[in-house]
Amino acid sequence: MTDERAIWLAALLHDIGKFWENIPPADVPSELRAAQKYQHEAYGAWFVRKYLADWTDDPQAVEQIIVKHHQPSLPDEVLVQIADWLASYERVQAGQEEAGGRGKRETLLRSILSRVQGADAKLYHPLQALKTDRETLFPLPEDRAPLPDYARVWNQFLRELQKVTTPQRRTLQALLFKYFWAAPSDRSYEDIPDISLYHHLVAAAAIAVCLSRTGLTENDLMTLSDALKTFWNRQPQTPAQQAILNQPVALLVKGDISGTQDFLYLLTSRGAARGLRGRSFYLQLLTEVVSEWMLRRLQLPLTNRLYAGGGHFYLLVPYRECEQVDALRAQIAQKLWQAHRGDLSLNIGAVPVAPIDFVSSQMGGEGFTQKWKAVSEDVADRKQRRWIDLGAEQMAQHLFTPYDEGTTAEEMCQVCHGEWKAGEDTTDEGVRKCRRCASFERLGMELRHCEYLVRFYLAEQELPHPRPTWQEVLRTFGVEVHPLSRRKDGGLQLPSVPVNAQEVLIERVGDTDFLNDDTLNLADHLRLPACFDFRLLGEVTPTDEQGNVVDYDYLANASQGVPWLGVLRMDVDSLGQLFRYGLGEDTTLSRVATLSGSMRLFFEAYVPLLCREVNAGGQEKVYLLYAGGDDLFVVGSWSVLPVLAQRIRDEFREYAGGDHVTVSAGIAIEHEKYPPLPPCRRRQARPRRQSERAGQAHRQRQGDAEKRHLLPGRAAGLGAVRRGRLLEERAAGDAAGGQRREEGVPRSADPADGDFAAVSVEPSGAAGSPAPGRDYEATVPLTGAA
Ligand SMILES: [Zn+2]
Repeated sequence: MTDERAIWLAALLHDIGKFWENIPPADVPSELRAAQKYQHEAYGAWFVRKYLADWTDDPQAVEQIIVKHHQPSLPDEVLVQIADWLASYERVQAGQEEAGGRGKRETLLRSILSRVQGADAKLYHPLQALKTDRETLFPLPEDRAPLPDYARVWNQFLRELQKVTTPQRRTLQALLFKYFWAAPSDRSYEDIPDISLYHHLVAAAAIAVCLSRTGLTENDLMTLSDALKTFWNRQPQTPAQQAILNQPVALLVKGDISGTQDFLYLLTSRGAARGLRGRSFYLQLLTEVVSEWMLRRLQLPLTNRLYAGGGHFYLLVPYRECEQVDALRAQIAQKLWQAHRGDLSLNIGAVPVAPIDFVSSQMGGEGFTQKWKAVSEDVADRKQRRWIDLGAEQMAQHLFTPYDEGTTAEEMCQVCHGEWKAGEDTTDEGVRKCRRCASFERLGMELRHCEYLVRFYLAEQELPHPRPTWQEVLRTFGVEVHPLSRRKDGGLQLPSVPVNAQEVLIERVGDTDFLNDDTLNLADHLRLPACFDFRLLGEVTPTDEQGNVVDYDYLANASQGVPWLGVLRMDVDSLGQLFRYGLGEDTTLSRVATLSGSMRLFFEAYVPLLCREVNAGGQEKVYLLYAGGDDLFVVGSWSVLPVLAQRIRDEFREYAGGDHVTVSAGIAIEHEKYPPLPPCRRRQARPRRQSERAGQAHRQRQGDAEKRHLLPGRAAGLGAVRRGRLLEERAAGDAAGGQRREEGVPRSADPADGDFAAVSVEPSGAAGSPAPGRDYEATVPLTGAA
């Protein structure tokens, strides 16, 4: 068997020739041409020989696998063919009224959101490198989309590829994303081209690694290959074929951080504005860092992380690593317990995935979305037994030990109400802030003009302090993170390299131009093996005339009318349903990944642009704390929020091609002295309302997407946007208005409840999830774990 890395690379590039064949190279060696079945295999192999010889220890094996992936004979060739099939095993045939890819080079990528059932318009992505502007991101009707210029994109891709002197897998993946996110993976005559080449390649690579580590014999591989062919040919399967189709080859792992709502919102108003941004970004970093730590421990590439954002992640892990995943889970519980003493925890669920699970239900398989559902159930189940991963002894030791020693008000942090010690913690403008809260504020400040995020990988470190800073927590996972901005003289700030750093990741922030001179100089300066990537930082921080991050009262005062603060949350409706049923029976890993990627681009790349527009020209009014996955969170002048919500709604409609996929919004309006979203505390203060709220929460669970909608009883205006309608209501005196509700919109404006009423459903840690884990019928336990 070939080295796993070579198999991974071959799977990652197996179809890259499908792009190059549009501008066919003239110099393909004849022996490669002779080995191919179609044409793209020879181009792919030639690409590896010509440009990537340094990227693998075994370029010949990689070439060979690629050139033979349509008529394999050796086991590795069969394996990559199977990975290719499993990534997209389906056949979405064009119907009467719609032409397929037609095999022509003018084929554009059909926007996947406009393929979801019920779409009004058929939209297509212009072929171009990824940039964060509307022109690039938004799909167009076919007659308005420019013809694809394959040569231009390919030459840009080659130019950037050749800048890379240290071959790293992550850098290659970032380049593939940038250049092939809008390229169709398949242009065969009868198929609708709605899967991006990038997502297809990455899915195939992830599956290939899992298959490779399963230890299938040559015979097994042949049986599996034959078994998969039976679906195409609609033939009966032999018992051996059925057995291998149902034998687990991978684990779908989901990690979900709990406690995020309290972590973000159970703060006093002192310093909350600045601290909140830092805390929100820390949650994002923690999600990434923990999932990458798992991948590093399992020696898996980033292709095997299917998603990370909004407090949760999904990994595709070789089934062989079951026990290892359990061990890692226990270590993560341990580290997070020490860092957060139960305020934040991570629940990790896992379900086995067999070849049949990758096959779309249309073809006779199980359809991959079933697995999202199953793994979410496993996570929900584990949440009921939180901390079990610590083990009985540790639990007894930790859970019943008092930690904070502070007893008087003078020994409490005035932001988080945790312990504050003179000498260790600090005071800022007369406010006592513990070192942890102070570190979140600093992070929030550092992100303001951040251009790069540099991560050093080093040996895991012990926590040096019982109230650790965010940096110290991440170091326990072997990562040190530095946000970099520009100095006054225009030069880039340089981080000091930690003594024991082994490697570095340099991420360009908010810009896809991630291999420019600045980046490469930075890498030279750091003198470490470097990989490069870019990230779309879904945030906008408002500043005053002097460039300082503004406080809540500044935003409140910038409102029209009463000087109050507003909070806007929006997310995509019925996301779980969308993923499970939106694409009909054509749900393979590649297609689901394309759908999820498409929504992320809207929220992470485009929503910040809309928020910046609001802030442009005059007083800055909105603070985008988070946008990613399928949701967003804005704090700002209350009067601009309904307009912003409407704008986002309208733009999403255009992006998706109709009203078949919608976003909802909730707006709360608050006096600036209240921190945003305080219902957790208020709910605790009103026990008599608990049972009523539980009832409402239950009804809401029957409804759709989980959200937290707030209705300030005394505020003059409220916006709740649902399916494009902006409802204006007067709350305090208008019970009728308050009780008006559309299906699925949780609201309650009970005048008897005094000055504030809220319906709060289960904290929305799962709101950004492709499959919220509550409304499911059955749990699929993890074999050999649990
Ligand atoms: Zn604190």
